[in-house]
Amino acid sequence: MPSTAISVTDLSKMYGERAALSHATFEVPLGTVCGFVGPNGSGKTTTMRMLLGLITPSGGTGEILGHSIKHPEKYLPRVGAMIEGPAFYPALSGRENLNYLATLGGFSTDRVQGLLEQVGLGDRAKSKYKTYSLGMKQRLGIAAALLPNPQLLMLDEPTNGLDPEGIQEVRDLLRTLANNGTSVFVSSHLLSELEIISDYLVMLRKGEVVFTGKINDLLHAQQPIIIAKGQSESDLNTLLSIAMSAGHHATIRDGALHVEGPKEWAVILNKVAFDAGITLSQLTPQLPNLEETFFEMTGDK
Ligand code: ATP
Repeated sequence: MPSTAISVTDLSKMYGERAALSHATFEVPLGTVCGFVGPNGSGKTTTMRMLLGLITPSGGTGEILGHSIKHPEKYLPRVGAMIEGPAFYPALSGRENLNYLATLGGFSTDRVQGLLEQVGLGDRAKSKYKTYSLGMKQRLGIAAALLPNPQLLMLDEPTNGLDPEGIQEVRDLLRTLANNGTSVFVSSHLLSELEIISDYLVMLRKGEVVFTGKINDLLHAQQPIIIAKGQSESDLNTLLSIAMSAGHHATIRDGALHVEGPKEWAVILNKVAFDAGITLSQLTPQLPNLEETFFEMTGDK
């Protein structure tokens, strides 16, 4: 029994001179939800396509459930995937669509009703696909990916285009699946859509892995900040010099001083500012904001 659902070493994909994925190395432990995040065009779909044996890597290796991606036939029967949106017949019901896909894939149709219930479509199973909301369509896509009773579920942007309620539905479903032992590898261009449910993260920027590990490690790696204001705008430059001469990275933004540093330093800032004749009107240590870190790590800045 392998300990990792996905293991990738130095994996690359070139399109001409351009690297869609460049020397990616990461591991996804079994039984977890791993968020695969990065802006549009950062290489998520390309990676998933290689992992599913749909395209050939230009270099590097990968293993899915302990088998090399050179032999997809060894693991694909235990992998469910939804890449680039589900394709269904609009005039058939959800149940008819799943029955058709089950027959086509050589799976039993006995599980279809159970799967429809699992994704919350039990009472709409007989409605035509074209009458489904976007969230229902995505959930039917996930049900289709679950037909093989997979050990690993790979979903490309399943929350794309969904309203907050639809995003919540998909999130709840993925968390429940992981709690029941399915490993989930799910991509999004927005960390906020996956942050709550992910145990692990693989973060891409322009085809390169910029973070891989437990989401908690990313939280801990972030610098806490202190936001401070004096009683007038003119105090800000003095506060900036105080912070910088104490060795902290600091900037003036939105009419306030933002200092990178632990919350304990706020007490010192207060005292030094007071000694310099400034009474602070705001002094707020802030918890790290994961979304800001994500944009900093994956953006062009
Ligand atoms: P999105 O969410 O927009 O699909 P992504 O993170 O999934 O983004 P990819 O679709 O993997 O990114 O694309 C990564 C890069 O590779 C992009 O620059 C894209 O234009 C390029 N690319 C992808 N497929 C091909 C192809 N078949 N031929 C040439 N370039 C490609």
